[in-house]
Order: sequence, then structure tokens, then C-alpha cells
Amino acid sequence: MVDKITSLAEYFQKYQESVANPEGFWSNIAENYYWRKKWDRVLDWKFDGDGAPDVKWFVNGKLNITENIFERNMFMRKDQTALIWEPNNPDEDTLKFTYEELFDKVKQFANALKSLGVEKGDRVAIYLPMVPELAIAMLACARIGAVHSIVFAGFSASALADRIHDAKSKILITSDGGFRGAKSIHLKNIADEALQSCPTVEKAVVLHRTNEEHINWVEGRDVWWHDLIENASTENKAEEMDAEDMLFILYTSGSTGKPKGVVHSTAGYMIYSEYTFKNVFQYSDGDVYWCTADIGWVTGHSYIIYGPLLAGATSIMFEGVPTWPDAGRFWDIVDKYKVTHFYTAPTAIRALVAQGDEWVKSHDLSSLKVLGTVGEPINEEAWRWYHSMIGKGKCPIVDTWWQTETGGIMISPLAGITPTKPSLATLPLPGIQPILVDPEGNELKGNSVEGILCIKFPWPGMLRTTYGDHQRCYNTYFSSYRGLYLTGDGAKRDEEGYYRIIGRIDDVINVSGHRIGTAEVEDAINQHPKVVESAVVGYPHDIKGAGIYAYVICEELTDREMAGIENEIRETVNKFIGPIAKPDKIQIVSGLPKTRSGKIMRRILRKIGEGDATNLGDTSTLLDPGIVDTIINGAKVEV
Ligand code: ATP
Ligand code: MG
Repeated sequence: MVDKITSLAEYFQKYQESVANPEGFWSNIAENYYWRKKWDRVLDWKFDGDGAPDVKWFVNGKLNITENIFERNMFMRKDQTALIWEPNNPDEDTLKFTYEELFDKVKQFANALKSLGVEKGDRVAIYLPMVPELAIAMLACARIGAVHSIVFAGFSASALADRIHDAKSKILITSDGGFRGAKSIHLKNIADEALQSCPTVEKAVVLHRTNEEHINWVEGRDVWWHDLIENASTENKAEEMDAEDMLFILYTSGSTGKPKGVVHSTAGYMIYSEYTFKNVFQYSDGDVYWCTADIGWVTGHSYIIYGPLLAGATSIMFEGVPTWPDAGRFWDIVDKYKVTHFYTAPTAIRALVAQGDEWVKSHDLSSLKVLGTVGEPINEEAWRWYHSMIGKGKCPIVDTWWQTETGGIMISPLAGITPTKPSLATLPLPGIQPILVDPEGNELKGNSVEGILCIKFPWPGMLRTTYGDHQRCYNTYFSSYRGLYLTGDGAKRDEEGYYRIIGRIDDVINVSGHRIGTAEVEDAINQHPKVVESAVVGYPHDIKGAGIYAYVICEELTDREMAGIENEIRETVNKFIGPIAKPDKIQIVSGLPKTRSGKIMRRILRKIGEGDATNLGDTSTLLDPGIVDTIINGAKVEV
């Protein structure tokens, strides 16, 4: 069993160990796994030079990740619940799978995929709603050594087609439809539209979910999931994989530009996802863990499926949305399953704050022990609400900073061990060596500094390449500062050595020579009682170099309130940060352009703030493209 750190002193000791001797540190952990053949060397790496990046962990080790989820856990956990599935509609039956039941389903579907001719190394695109078959399909791919490329089921046909093209997927797994809140989405139609331009796809496996009345069917290509598994056996021996064989491809959210096909490999990702899961959340046997992310995002990959299941945990998978049938849905589920660990995104927390406290107060949340957040900087007000209203002041919050590219959590408190501060991701996990640099790449040493966050030493869960374009991987992450992995985020290291992520590098605004993080200004604006959410960008300013433009969503305002709101917001910022950060322009908006993973696409707001709406770039990952025009129409500049 992978050990857990149990005290702050032990954390510091392990951290030192992991920096002094990374290979010893990680190979000790790797000893806990089931290997067909052990590695020859722990690590080969270079971040620069010919062919870089070139990172190999556990060189020549042989294994299969599903053997480490199932065979390794089977002895102790055969009858323990692995996965709990909560349907979109609370009136529909819940499903529970023990480790043994899930294992059988995975082996059966693995055989089904093989019967379609899927072989080790083939890419399989998965475009499914949050149903158990999504978990089964991804694990079945891993079982036979096929590479899964999961595409969030909220994406359009063209976004899906782009990802299928890029990965040259041979198979698509989809469903007739999917439920999300009051809506049902006809996924098969969208998939069919995408497949018109995807000649690499030989077969489409279709799951019955919404029982759509009319369903397009392409004879010879399409096959029903239930027909496919009908005669498939539940006996399956896992494919032997090299430690560095590709496990999956996953496209980034597209907050900053065209999504990148991030490639993760087998052994390093396996070890890193379980190690971080156990340590950050401090999961113990008997706990019930719920991550509300969609499996279409990396958070769902690492912290609904791989990390928890490797650790032998009980993990909840939820098909629906936080506000349907009503805004108490999350808390209903917490109460229903006596959830102990709850992991969600700041965007969801802010949305629930806006719904009012009554939805929370009417539920029993006493089972909760640990809360987590991921995806964006969490503003202080939301942190405090989460802490007091949801956690009743007794649950530690783990503010987990990481990226699709990092495979797992990088900087985060360990629950109940690391003392927390609102809005700070706190300390790096063992094995992670962050470094802050100035724009020229000089290291900023010591505490109370702010700069560009890079990582200077490899960790097992890191990306290996961007699919089909290794040069792009180098250019994006390793070419800015030689020998360093560039995260693209800016961070502060405070007087205690704690990290605070202040947003993406592009989001730092240089106002009259002062570097101001957008997250910090948003944090201040959100303190105003009438503000629901805000997004801040810089725009060219004759005198200051850059001015601050704030897009703000407010609760419903009377005419009188509306007249005074801008000044009040400026005063709030003045009070929390100072006059230097007061927004020059404030636009009250009804919504913000967000990615489907709930992140604000600031580059679009930046363009609008600059008065240029001609080239907004790739907007295929936007949740509601219509909002862009609404914002342009109300803009405080000539667009
Ligand atoms: P793209 O790379 O395509 O622009 P993306 O960066 O949004 O998309 P993800 O990998 O899903 O894609 O998100 C990682 C980013 O999310 C981080 O680089 C950081 O900006 C932000 N982030 C994640 N967790 C946190 C956190 N706890 N605090 C602050 N920011 C976070
Ligand atoms: Mg990114």
C-alpha cells in the first residue's frame, strides 16, 4: 500500500528527501505496485537539447494500470463499492459497482473492443455523458493497451471532429443521447455530423441512454453497445505495457488558445495519480469520495477514476448538474451517500453562493471531512463561504493547483496537515520543484517574491509530448526558459513560502509599472455584496500603459443601485487592494464567456477591451458563444 504522510513534520522530511534523491523517493513508492517486470533505471530525462523534452520514468518496466486497479485490489476489496453512480434524474435508480463487478464489466468490454479489431496503441475516441459506461470504456481501453481520447460530451460536432482528426482515432464510442439537468442532448446526431469528416473512424459503438425515438444508423459502421457485449466473455488477461507506453491523450480546456493533445504515459501517471490522491485528500478506508468534475476533463481522469480506484477508494460519479432539479442537488447527494470528501471548482461554488444559503441549510452535511477546489484561483469570499457554510468551519479546504499537462496535483495543502490560508495553494507536493522566474528567466530566490511559475525537475505524472507534434510540446512548455517546464501561470511566494496562483501570465496587468494579477482584482470586486462574479483584463492606456477593465455580473439591481454600482465597486477595490487597482472601466454584464469546464476565457474579453472583435481565435470550447455579442454591444469602448 502506498503510504500516507500523517504530519507536517513528516511532510517537510519527505519533501527534503524527494528533492535530495528523487529517484530513491519515487522508486520506493513504485515498489507498491504490481509489475510484470521491474524497471532498469528510475529516470532518464532532459528538458532541453535534441528531441527535448525527453522524460522516461521506470525505464523498461512492464505493467498494466488496470492490473493495479483490479487484480492488486481484489484480494482486499472484491466486495467493496468502487463506483457509485448518481443519475441526472433523482427519481432514476442509483447504481453501485463493487470492485469485482466493475472488473467484470471492464474485462467484458475489453474483449468487445478487441472483437472490433482494436489493438494496442490504437486511439479510441470516447464521447459519452457521465454514465458508468464511460468509466468502463476508458478502463477497457487501458486493459488492452488502446489509447483513450475522451471528449467532453458538451462539445460541438466540429470540436469533436477536430479531436478525432488530431488523434487519428480508429473507433468512436458514443451514446444515443445524454441528460443534463432538464435537457437531453442528442449525442449521436452530433457524433454523426462529426464523423462525416473523420475517415479514420472504422466503427462507432453506440450506448443506449436516452432512448431517442429516431436515431440515424450507418450500417456496417455503427454497432450497439449491448449487442457488442452480449457474447463477450468476462475473462481477459491484461495487455503488457511498457512503463512509457501511452495511456491516454486529453485535450486542454482551450482557455488560452487551440487545445493541445496532452499525452500521458502509463507507469508515471499511475503512481502520481494515486500518490497525490491519497496524500492531498488523506483518504482512508470507509470514506466516500466525490469529485464533481466531468470525466471529459483531466480532473475526472485523475480524481474520479484513476487515482481513487488505484487507491481502492469508493468514488462517486454524478451525471447531472448542481442546480437541477434545484440548487440543493449537490447537498442532497452529500447527504444521501454520506460523502466525506467533496472536490469541486470555484465556478460551481460561486454559482451556488449566488443561489442563497437556504439550499445548504436544509441539508445534513455532517458527514463531510475534507473539501477541495480546482481549476481556477478561488477568490477569498468564495473560499470563506465554502469553509463556513459547507464545511461548518471544521473541514480543511485543499486548493489544488495543477494542469492537464501535470497529470496530477502539484501544489496543494495536505488535508488537515498543512495549515491553510484562503486563496493560497500553499506548498508543493513531495517530488515537485517549483521555481519562480522573472520575464528574463532569472530565478527569484527567497520568499515574498512574485513571478512566472516553472518546474525545474521532472515528476512522474508530467506530460511526455503533445500528440503528433513533439515540437509543439517543446515550443509551448520548454522553449521560453531553457531547462524549465513553463506552467504559463504567475504566482506569488509569500513570506512563509506559500504559493498563491495569481492567474495566467497573460493575465498579469502592468499598470503604471505595477504588476497586478487579475485574480486579485476580481477577488476584491467580488467582495461587494451585489457582485456575483467578475472578470478583469488589461487594455492599452495612454498614460498608465495598461488600464483595468472589469466585466461584472451583479444580482438584480434597482435603478438607484445601478446608478451607484460602479463607484461602489471602485471603492471596494480601493479598500481591499488600493487605488492603483481601481478599474478604469466597469461593464455590468449578464454573463461571461466561459469554457465548457467553467473557466473564463479572458483572451476574448481582452480583445473586446482593446476594441477589436475581429479575430477572437478558437471559440469552439465556449459554453455560450452568444454571450460574446451581448458583451460587445454593451462594451465601454468602440468595438
Ligand atoms: P489551455 O491550456 O488550453 O489554455 P487550461 O489551461 O484552462 O486550457 P487546464 O489544464 O484544464 O486547461 O487548466 C489548468 C489551469 O487552470 C492552470 O494552468 C491554472 O491557470 C488553472 N488552475 C487550476 N487549478 C488552479 C488552482 N487551484 N488555483 C489557481 N489556478 C488554477
Ligand atoms: Mg493550460
